[in-house]
Amino acid sequence: MNFQAAVLNQINAPLAIETLTMAPLAPTDVLVRVRASGLCHTDLEVIQGALAYPLPIVLGHEGAGVVEAVGNEVTQVRAGDHVICSWNPHCGHCFYCERDLPILCEPFSRNQPRGFLLDGRSRMSRDGATVHHYSVTSTHAQYSVVPESGAIVIPKEIAFDRACIIGCGVMTGVGAAVRKARVEAGANVVAVGCGAVGLNVIQGAKLVDAGQIIAVDVGAQKLTRAQQFGATHTIDASQGDVVEQVKALTAGRGADYVFEAAGQARTFRLAVETVRPGGQVVWLGKVNVDQEVSFRWGSLMGERRIVRSSYGDARPRRDFPWLVDEYLGGRLKLDELITGRITLAEINDGFASLARGEGIRTVALLP
Ligand SMILES: [Zn+2]
Ligand SMILES: [Zn+2]
Repeated sequence: MNFQAAVLNQINAPLAIETLTMAPLAPTDVLVRVRASGLCHTDLEVIQGALAYPLPIVLGHEGAGVVEAVGNEVTQVRAGDHVICSWNPHCGHCFYCERDLPILCEPFSRNQPRGFLLDGRSRMSRDGATVHHYSVTSTHAQYSVVPESGAIVIPKEIAFDRACIIGCGVMTGVGAAVRKARVEAGANVVAVGCGAVGLNVIQGAKLVDAGQIIAVDVGAQKLTRAQQFGATHTIDASQGDVVEQVKALTAGRGADYVFEAAGQARTFRLAVETVRPGGQVVWLGKVNVDQEVSFRWGSLMGERRIVRSSYGDARPRRDFPWLVDEYLGGRLKLDELITGRITLAEINDGFASLARGEGIRTVALLP
């Protein structure tokens, strides 16, 4: 079948809306008619060349839609189901899956960077030549083929634009607080960086009744927004010493949990300086893989725990329906995260806006 997709043919060039061909489904494939697809900063990193992937490639890893067809071995999903795509499908039985680390699933880690599905093949082509999948999802398109473990059935009550952002930004932030760090009621939390992921850390901390939720960013607009998502205190990093201000709010000790969601060398350093001895730092942001980041040795001592989290310890089949329930129950904000709605044809404008740091999340809507 043929379908339209936004294709990245060259680094730092506009995406082109092109007609591609989808191969017949393999036995464990799920064909999704994409209805909404969020523009995530990681897509932008591929466009800008900070993350190297084989080209041409179809980006988009925050998608929701309707299952159109399934391969003959698929049992957990059927045609007509509404699904959110997971960008970390996993085999369930490799070295890491058996150790409860699906984020490191070996078939995923082997094939995702090569732009293929878990079986090491692409399903998309253009004039007979291979087009690559991005993170086993490629949802900036009318159709996406994902493995069964990447198609997560959700209730039909939630709109597709709200649902799709659960697939990356919401899961990554809320999951970091609730699943990865397991913030407990009453604990003090710092979120460094109040973009899409940082705001979701804040609302994750609120979900579990954290005590002080301290938002750190630059500028009144971002900090006001952080308060709307549940921050109890805000610190403008351009005004005075952040470490001293966090200590002043936490009886001089530092915070129980610090989440770094800004992705800068100095904010990684700031994260370990603001956590208390014995507390936990969760690194969510990223810098270029070859960039060096330095720390004051003393800031790493004192039984501090430092962990990296890419997807909030997601177990999508457990967590996506849970997050939908939290939204439908009025405890999780999704409407407020969406600051732009565009068509697929307007996707380059959407990424230009993201590159300028405007808004929180832009979602491409597909008819
Ligand atoms: Zn993402
Ligand atoms: Zn695996």
